[in-house]
Amino acid sequence: MLGPQAVLRDAASLVEFSDPYAGPDPSAYRPGLVIQPASTEEVRAAVLLAGELGVPLWTSSMGRNFGYGGSSPVVDRSVVLNLRRLDRIIEIDPEQGFARIEPGVTFAGLYEELRAQDAPLMMSVPDLGWGSMIGNGLEHGYGYNVMGDHASALCGLEVVLANGDVLRTGQGGMPGSPLWSCHRRGYGPSLDSLFMQSNFGVVTQAGVWLMPRPEAFMIGTITCHRDGDIVPLVALLRRLVRRGVLQGIPMIVGTPEGGADVSPDMAPFTLANLKQVLRPGRWSVRIGLYGDKEMNLARRAILARELAEIADAELDLRTYPGNARPDEVEPRDYISAGIPNRLLLERLQAVFGPTFGHMDFSPVVPLDGEWALRVDKLAQDTAARYDLIAPTGFLVQERSLVSACMVMFDASRADRVAAAREAVAKMYAAAAEWGCAPYRSHIALADEVAQRFSANDHAYGRTCTRIKDALDPAGILSPGNHGIWPGSC
Ligand SMILES: Cc1cc2nc3c(=O)[nH]c(=O)nc-3n(C[C@H](O)[C@H](O)[C@H](O)COP(=O)(O)OP(=O)(O)OC[C@H]3O[C@@H](n4cnc5c(N)ncnc54)[C@H](O)[C@@H]3O)c2cc1C
Repeated sequence: MLGPQAVLRDAASLVEFSDPYAGPDPSAYRPGLVIQPASTEEVRAAVLLAGELGVPLWTSSMGRNFGYGGSSPVVDRSVVLNLRRLDRIIEIDPEQGFARIEPGVTFAGLYEELRAQDAPLMMSVPDLGWGSMIGNGLEHGYGYNVMGDHASALCGLEVVLANGDVLRTGQGGMPGSPLWSCHRRGYGPSLDSLFMQSNFGVVTQAGVWLMPRPEAFMIGTITCHRDGDIVPLVALLRRLVRRGVLQGIPMIVGTPEGGADVSPDMAPFTLANLKQVLRPGRWSVRIGLYGDKEMNLARRAILARELAEIADAELDLRTYPGNARPDEVEPRDYISAGIPNRLLLERLQAVFGPTFGHMDFSPVVPLDGEWALRVDKLAQDTAARYDLIAPTGFLVQERSLVSACMVMFDASRADRVAAAREAVAKMYAAAAEWGCAPYRSHIALADEVAQRFSANDHAYGRTCTRIKDALDPAGILSPGNHGIWPGSC
């Protein structure tokens, strides 16, 4: 049906589509087979056949969800339905500011095409540019400049449902609509979000909004030196982001200070090595200003004036023309400049070795520095108990703080993988006591996290199950993803 080139069953492929950080010889979450259809029609045929045979499919786009399970299925030995071969850039519209793409289009792939066409558009990219723009957005992933909330940048999906229907959300429901990628809503309920962090369908196309390429941009860092500086720092970022002085998603990174290092047999996963990767200062913030030159200068002046309220805080900004090529931008500024790369992973592997692994503790907390301190203390205390290192990061939204605390470990050691999983699970249990949950989690913790949304006798979870039962009663599509199962399970 799909042809032999679309079926991967060799050992190397099964490893590639497994969790890269699961440790040696994992006994769960293993792909049984990988299939790679090359068109929506082929996806539809595969879904219908899986339904007939009662075989679960686990959907991934590029399948590089590292830190959250990679392309690993929740149900052991499921067939991975990987969409790398659906890699068409269907349309780029520079005037309206969007691209319509398939799930196999990576951040790096779209960037190359925008440059080849000299399209006056700028991308938002996550720290690794080899992922799928659709996969990352569906998983609620983040980049850091103006369109950094990647789920919000998706507009108008094509979705294959378990019964073989090919659904177009939003304006796409109108045959021949010129607005599918431009206007979020259709008539009646908006369905796009139903297919994000869920298992209700297989997304085979999406519109992605892109920002206009600015005349110029300034990128750099704010550095603060004292532990308590995080409180005025978050207050400052909150008001500057809300007033539109700062754009995009400022990323705060905390460098753990003081305290004893981990025990020697944890090397190279030591605090001393971690400090080689992190920026100097107790807290540093990656920021960007984008727009006309006069606007950027005005924004910088306001930022510098208000930052002076925090003693010894430093501001370091570099200016680039909007159409700067990668060789004209300092590599440390690539992410905020929307230039896809893999420098962070390369750096981490250079310091910690090729078996570097991580699992994230990512609770969403109120946009307040006291909360950031609370998350940081929980992460550092828990990491110390488990002999782990865990730098804390925070993505500043307009009304919330998304924590991104990378718990790092040697993925070749089963005991360290187990320690990291237990530490992260403990931290989520503690965060739940505060009423806070992750924005995203590793598949091994999905049920646990989902169960905690228990208000009113689990009304949310029961509603998800009823939607699953309506759309996919046999549970063929990614059963267990984000803790959603059909009622029969
Ligand atoms: C060092 C490092 C840094 C990282 N930095 C970032 C960062 O800055 N920001 C960030 O967001 N992430 C980051 N990550 C995590 C991860 O690498 C990215 O989020 C990556 O983009 C996810 O992989 P992917 O795009 O291939 O998505 P996939 O693995 O293809 O998809 C992710 C999930 O989305 C769902 N899904 C995917 N495609 C479909 C579809 N077509 N239909 C229905 N459901 C689907 C599935 O549940 C799937 O498991 C980082 C990881 C590492 C190791």
